[in-house]
Amino acid sequence: MKKMMLINPHPPGRHGEESISVIVQMPLNLAYIAALTPGNWEFDIIDENIELAMDENGELTFDNVDLVCITSVTYQSPRAYKIAEACKKRSMTVILGGVHATTHSEEAINYVDCVFKGEAEEIWHEVIADFENNRLKKIYDGGLPDLSILKNVYPDRELLRKKYDYKFASIITTKGCPNFCDFCSVPIYQGRKFRERPFEDVLDEMEATDYKGLMFAEDNFYGHGNRSNERARNLFKGMVERGIKKDWLGFTALNISQDPVVLEYMAKSGNFGMLIGMESTNEEVLKKMGKKVNLKLGTGSYKECIGNIHKHGLVVWGSVVFGADGDGKDSFKRMTDFILDNNIDIMSFGIDCPFPKTQLYKRLDGEQRIFRKNYPADWHYFDSGHLVHRLVDMSLTDFIEGMHYVYDNLYGGDNLRLRFRNSLRTVGSTLNGKRNAMFAFRVGGDWDNVFKQALDNLEKLNDSGDYSVDHYKKDTAFISA
Ligand code: SF4
Repeated sequence: MKKMMLINPHPPGRHGEESISVIVQMPLNLAYIAALTPGNWEFDIIDENIELAMDENGELTFDNVDLVCITSVTYQSPRAYKIAEACKKRSMTVILGGVHATTHSEEAINYVDCVFKGEAEEIWHEVIADFENNRLKKIYDGGLPDLSILKNVYPDRELLRKKYDYKFASIITTKGCPNFCDFCSVPIYQGRKFRERPFEDVLDEMEATDYKGLMFAEDNFYGHGNRSNERARNLFKGMVERGIKKDWLGFTALNISQDPVVLEYMAKSGNFGMLIGMESTNEEVLKKMGKKVNLKLGTGSYKECIGNIHKHGLVVWGSVVFGADGDGKDSFKRMTDFILDNNIDIMSFGIDCPFPKTQLYKRLDGEQRIFRKNYPADWHYFDSGHLVHRLVDMSLTDFIEGMHYVYDNLYGGDNLRLRFRNSLRTVGSTLNGKRNAMFAFRVGGDWDNVFKQALDNLEKLNDSGDYSVDHYKKDTAFISA
């Protein structure tokens, strides 16, 4: 029997979203790879969020296998390349897939035997056949298949649960996004077509797993038009009618607040609440980002939208961006007041990050403002927890002070508890409201660590002097992103 090692790399010591223990998610794409592999294979997995695949001396922590499959998003790619090099030193064959390999295959192929771009469902069996017959190609491209294909394969969640006992699993119900927000890489690697699984297929998969905790893997489960909104209603109605009770959470947009029917079914099906990309309270900033969905409702309606969601006992996890062009020194207090005035139950943030290949990257690079340009090593800064570009509407010192202000007023001291009491007052009397408020409080407790790390990253940047180094004036040739 051949052996395959599946690896989710992670830079040691980093605390990002993956450190939120209440929703620690298994790397679902590796569970798909296990399920899609035909023939006689034995699998093992290392999730470096939990244990390392390579120690501090660069030694692998596992015995030789026939094939190593690594996944990575951009910030993970330098670690993925190091693990791949260590594997190759020990004569193991390495395939790299995931978002970064898809968008940067020319870079990735320097470190691995084979790069897998796109999604695996349609052609993974060919890759395995080629490997078994010693004719593995350098690059495969699985494209973006119709999601009806997922009817035929459920990810092997048990393999991952056996190893790490994850409390939550994720599930795919849609992929892609027709919008084109300047900072977002979803339309780039998942396409601008909004692909939806037939809701009956999703219900069947939910019934087939006894995982109670489910995270919807996509960026918008509610969708972008009447037809997809109807599909979402049918999905949650189907959960209620089939008696599928899950503790679940997902990402969507604020327009869901206008649909009381879907909110009602979501509450009954066990939903905690939803992550919503608020991004900014400044419409000029939203325009620059191209965040059309928020502009359509208008920032003046946010309060009412959030109130509608709360009425159903669901908590609102607002995700915001700090450091976007147009947001100056006053943006930190404005956002803090907004979070408190609207009883937003969880506030998480990203420091505006020009992910490679996005419109934001192209613009900031064109303006010669990106100061992390030593790729691939510097990709590890592209995680929304570091600042990688020079600000125009405030100084670095203003930015750091502003971030401390947000921390002190939303997280530090007794603020998490005070916000928990507000959540309880807002949703506590509804179905599952107390449970949902407690969930928000626990996520906030974990996010506290992520926030502290981002503050630490900013202080280190300030001390390092890197912020003012002008890489565009150096003779060094950098790889273009
Ligand atoms: S931020 Fe959301 S709406 Fe905008 S492109 Fe990304 S997934 Fe689509």
